[in-house]
Amino acid sequence: MESVINKAIVALLPLIPRSMVWWVSRRYIAGKTLEDALLCVEKLNAQGMSATLDVLGEDTTDHPAALAGEQIYQSALREISGRGLNANISVKLSMLGLKIDPAFCQSILLRLIQSAELYDNYVRMDMEDSSVTAVTLELYRKMRAKSDRIGAVVQAYLRSTEASVAELLSEGVTNLRICKGIYIEPEEIAFTDFYEVQDSFRATLRLLLENGAQRVGIATHDPELVLSSLEVIKELEIPKERYEFQMLLGVAEKMRGDLVADGHPLRVYVPFGEEWYAYSTRRLRENPQIAGHVVKNLFSG
Ligand SMILES: Cc1cc2nc3c(=O)[nH]c(=O)nc-3n(C[C@H](O)[C@H](O)[C@H](O)COP(=O)(O)OP(=O)(O)OC[C@H]3O[C@@H](n4cnc5c(N)ncnc54)[C@H](O)[C@@H]3O)c2cc1C
Repeated sequence: MESVINKAIVALLPLIPRSMVWWVSRRYIAGKTLEDALLCVEKLNAQGMSATLDVLGEDTTDHPAALAGEQIYQSALREISGRGLNANISVKLSMLGLKIDPAFCQSILLRLIQSAELYDNYVRMDMEDSSVTAVTLELYRKMRAKSDRIGAVVQAYLRSTEASVAELLSEGVTNLRICKGIYIEPEEIAFTDFYEVQDSFRATLRLLLENGAQRVGIATHDPELVLSSLEVIKELEIPKERYEFQMLLGVAEKMRGDLVADGHPLRVYVPFGEEWYAYSTRRLRENPQIAGHVVKNLFSG
């Protein structure tokens, strides 16, 4: 029943005025400009949380657009340093041209990593849909051989994730964020059962923590997974430098506050940019479940 309602919300989307979509999205998006995002980071830092900046946009179709994306990230790295903020950046490779010109994308990524070195910062490569999983992990391998200012993301819903993580760990220094995964993927390659995804998340997190992964990003708002992550951190006596919880802006604010109050490192993912409308509506169409989250949050204040 819930999925029918979510799909109905998505079907009605074109009829909803932009201003209303903005009003709803505002909770999850820092604003349209870098300045909006930096002000948001300042507030999060004051509450004891770090942040990661995400410039909205994906599936870039030409080189100038990819370069424009790079410029915003370059400015972000400069401003984070200049203002003494505690934040890094998360990039989507398809925004930086991966699907049109992988070599060009790689050169942009390299320049961002060089800036991260210059400004004592860090670049996280978000993981997109399964059409780019392998190429993204290959690029991560290449980049981490050059610099330790780079990390990647693995998705617990992919059946291949545990094996990929074991391989990455056996090859050397590994810095990963683990999340469930947001794209709709076929059953042959992805777990579709909620509990199977949770099991895969737990197993992958344990694998990372037991095998010396650098600071692991535990990206989830699922209270059961947060609880079991806390248990494994305690059991393995993982120091605070080796893990951080990560949550999306506007989501599970009570839980994130509790984690911070208990002394756990927590990073908030802060999306911003002119592409907010395309991003919000595409995400809703791709995964109608999000529509449910949005509406639930809308009415719970
Ligand atoms: C910091 C961070 C980085 C991420 N990076 C990636 C990435 O690189 N690649 C990728 O595929 N996915 C990424 N994700 C998305 C992640 O895979 C999704 O958030 C996932 O679908 C939701 O999983 P969950 O663990 O929160 O559990 P769920 O069981 O889906 O959600 C738990 C509860 O959290 C709330 N919630 C979850 N998501 C939202 C939302 N979007 N809006 C409002 N409420 C919500 C709901 O109340 C829900 O009941 C990232 C998530 C986070 C937090």
